[in-house]
Amino acid sequence: MPLEVSSEAKEAINAKAQLCFGCGVCMGGCPVARVNDGFHPRRLMRELIIGDWDAVLEGEAIWLCAQCHICSEVCPQGVGMSDIIVDIRNIATSLGVSPPESYRENMRMVEETGRIALITSPSILVRHRLSLDALEPVAAEEIRALVRGTKFKDLIDGGEA
Ligand code: SF4
Ligand code: SF4
Repeated sequence: MPLEVSSEAKEAINAKAQLCFGCGVCMGGCPVARVNDGFHPRRLMRELIIGDWDAVLEGEAIWLCAQCHICSEVCPQGVGMSDIIVDIRNIATSLGVSPPESYRENMRMVEETGRIALITSPSILVRHRLSLDALEPVAAEEIRALVRGTKFKDLIDGGEA
């Protein structure tokens, strides 16, 4: 059965997506597209423009985005693709679509450690070489309290939001 997205949500997202003229600059800058042949931010825009919402909501693309915002910074049309992707994730979860297991694995890591990835010796070394500040400890217990107080946990477990 098709997922029912409200007309208001569709209109708000389409107003931004319609600005896309398919230049592909976002593809060139996207770090995920560089390492994953299956990720096409421009294709996502096309699916939105033609109104193929089922493909958008049930596809993996919206969950692969790393939210680095490069696509939004380089876009000559100011489409704001990274924000559109967040909006679509919110719509998807509100309709009961579960993130894929690979994404939920990242969410579990946030719940357990407060970070999406472990801080390793090589990453500390690279930060040092790049003259970046040392990472501060995270308030993991506060993050766990947020997880417990929201529907984040339901999403991790793959249940409906
Ligand atoms: S850079 Fe902007 S206009 Fe160009 S394809 Fe990407 S979203 Fe569309
Ligand atoms: S925000 Fe997502 S889609 Fe945009 S460049 Fe980064 S990873 Fe790619």
